Amino acid sequence: MTTYSLAIHGGAGTILKSKMTDAQEAEYHAGLARALEAGEAVLRQGGTAMDAVTAAVCQLEDEPLFNAGRGAVFTTEGQQEMDACIMDGRDRATGAVAGIFGPKNPIRAARAVMETTSHVCLIGPNALEIARAAGLDFCDPDYFFTQSRWDALQQTLEMRARGEESDDPARRHGTVGAVARDRDGNLAAATSTGGMTAKLPGRVGDTPMPGAGTFADNATCAVSGTGHGEVFIKYTAGAEIAARMRHAGQSLAEAADHVVMRDLGAHDGSGGVIAVDGDGTLVLPFNCEGMYRAHVREGSDPVTAIYRD
Ligand code: ASP
Repeated sequence: MTTYSLAIHGGAGTILKSKMTDAQEAEYHAGLARALEAGEAVLRQGGTAMDAVTAAVCQLEDEPLFNAGRGAVFTTEGQQEMDACIMDGRDRATGAVAGIFGPKNPIRAARAVMETTSHVCLIGPNALEIARAAGLDFCDPDYFFTQSRWDALQQTLEMRARGEESDDPARRHGTVGAVARDRDGNLAAATSTGGMTAKLPGRVGDTPMPGAGTFADNATCAVSGTGHGEVFIKYTAGAEIAARMRHAGQSLAEAADHVVMRDLGAHDGSGGVIAVDGDGTLVLPFNCEGMYRAHVREGSDPVTAIYRD
């Protein structure tokens, strides 16, 4: 028996520190603490890493503060299209959905794909059918809508019309994710997102692509990413961290740092990752102003953080 470790993120699209009020900051810390506790409760009772990352991500999806599930961002057409992926480090079993709208918790839809089909990723009506067949809750558009994300879309579209691109991370993106090692030493990762504000309809980011935004393998690490998805895809961020550990003998910290700071950081890939290795070591590097995040190891106090402080 080993001890458990858990890390979560609520995205690297943080409100700029200069614009964050004390009240908002307190709300983000409280939201992160609730999600960490939801995941830790599973691990504390001897549950699996898979169940812990599912519970933590569901809680983050339910929080309107974060860009996933309720509170997801909007496409150029004013729709919400959600991506999610879960991966089991025991055998690399993976489930993913892309571009879906309806299930209250897209991460559960991803898990249903893994558990009830022979496929890894589903899109379109059949992804929803699988979620329905698994008995998952569905919600109306009103449930998912938040005024702040709608306003962010309008501002982004107005800026584009003036020929400007938004460089405010809070307006551009966000994502939620969790990685865990359970007491049996098994790893898992889960990530869920609305993607990027004003993305084209049908755009799929790194989140539901195993090896890019989500990855887990007991032999190396579990990773959940957040940031500029196109760059995470091109640099296969999650798989690259694992490959550096496996082939170059790097530690998790060295491998994750290299990918986040050099591969992504040097190529317009603003963002970060949370990751855990087989020893339960947690790392949470990011190359931008902040990343909503929290972590805990068995026997230690939970920590929530936003900026570099
Ligand atoms: N990586 C997500 C995407 O590109 C967005 C984010 O994490 O900010 O869809």
